[in-house]
Amino acid sequence: MTDRDSTGKPQALGYEARRILERVEVEGIDLIRFLYVDHGGVIRGKAASRPRLAERMRTGIGHTVAMMAMSMLDHLQEVAGMGPVGEIRLVPDPATFVPLPYAPGAASMICDLRELDGSPWAACPRTFLKDAVAELEAEGYAMIAAFEPEFTLGRRLPDPAGGPDRLVPIDDSLCYATTGFDQAHDFAIKLVRTLQSQGLGVEHYYPELGHGQQELSIRYAPALFAADRQVIYRETVRGVALRMAMWASLAPKPIPDQAGNGCHLHVSLWDRKHQHNLFSDASDRYGLSPLAYRFIAGVRHHLPALVALTCGTVNSYRRLAPRMWASAYNCYGMDNREAPIRICSPMAGSVAASTNLEIKPSDSSANPYLSLGAVIHAGLDGIRRGLDPGEAVDVDPATLSEAERTRLGAHRLPATLDEALDALEADELLMEALGPLRRNAYLAVKRSEAKDFAAEDAAFEAFHHFRVF
Ligand code: GLU
Ligand code: MG
Repeated sequence: MTDRDSTGKPQALGYEARRILERVEVEGIDLIRFLYVDHGGVIRGKAASRPRLAERMRTGIGHTVAMMAMSMLDHLQEVAGMGPVGEIRLVPDPATFVPLPYAPGAASMICDLRELDGSPWAACPRTFLKDAVAELEAEGYAMIAAFEPEFTLGRRLPDPAGGPDRLVPIDDSLCYATTGFDQAHDFAIKLVRTLQSQGLGVEHYYPELGHGQQELSIRYAPALFAADRQVIYRETVRGVALRMAMWASLAPKPIPDQAGNGCHLHVSLWDRKHQHNLFSDASDRYGLSPLAYRFIAGVRHHLPALVALTCGTVNSYRRLAPRMWASAYNCYGMDNREAPIRICSPMAGSVAASTNLEIKPSDSSANPYLSLGAVIHAGLDGIRRGLDPGEAVDVDPATLSEAERTRLGAHRLPATLDEALDALEADELLMEALGPLRRNAYLAVKRSEAKDFAAEDAAFEAFHHFRVF
């Protein structure tokens, strides 16, 4: 950031920050939301008023340390270092500034969580991803990534039986069917235009399998910006729907008997100047370089633990089941949509550039910074240790015998959040990468969510997930 020195101390505002100050004047923006993502995966923040913005960009907005110990049910957990005493600063990155057309007069920026002296706080999730990116860079690599979210469009209606509100999908259209396009059109066109006005390049849009399910993908970007875009995207999808008296949910299974909402992660490693895709090798039968295979091996090796971060909620594990195209068995394969790691067939005319891996056990209830950062650590471990990913799988792994899956190492991924957290606690590399404060808080928050939802029924779970995500 241009407005901080190397120790993070506030300096005179840099060019980008000064441009934002001009923009808020010209565009009549009176509230600027300072956002961050917590350990529950919830996007939260505080807003600065226009007259205070210059100062708040320099100093940040004060915030209690305890909020990173808050669960998605707003149940505060006991975590050492995150009690009622102590303060951090929400310090925005001017590069993430976007106006919010669905909230006229408002804009947002995404923040780092900093200590009072300006240094990164040990529980800052954005710093976790930045550090992972820096480790990659030290090895000579840069990651290009895209989050590919699906969501359910509907209306939030009271349950006639007096239970929690229900998400009633906007349509019962068929997968990719044109009736679905028409029924969601007013929303879809508004969403596309809003995202594009915020600088997010829309790739594709279509109604998908579940009732009300929509998929709208955003162009790839360097890892940190890809995660920032996922935050902006989540905000915009929800905000546009609300403005149109609808309700959009990116929760993994907001309607238990409908298709789940994934958020597949597309990743590739490039040289530091972003000129060559180092995952591509035309001479290989799947078009992948040895580096890509080692990356796959690292992700496979850590996958049971990794899903605790990429599929972060209780609701995630309803989606992560066999025969859902969401992946359930630890394997990889060429265009295999039941494999957690799908080698994506590249596009004619841009074969080298479009080569990428799709990581399917990932959804929008994850904190995108922790999720992508952890994927980097896992892949990098595979690279550093020269791990072998084993054989690719070219069938639905659910159709294989148990013996065959065992031979391929295609073990069932964790079936519950608690199982995933057990695997995370046993994963030395990821625990070390998270560091003591962050991992204690993450585990406390997530264990509490597992416990709280276990005491309730499916309607309660669906409601609290579509309400938040
Ligand atoms: N909805 C599926 C999921 O939960 C993905 C379907 C697809 O391949 O687009 O991941
Ligand atoms: Mg899809």
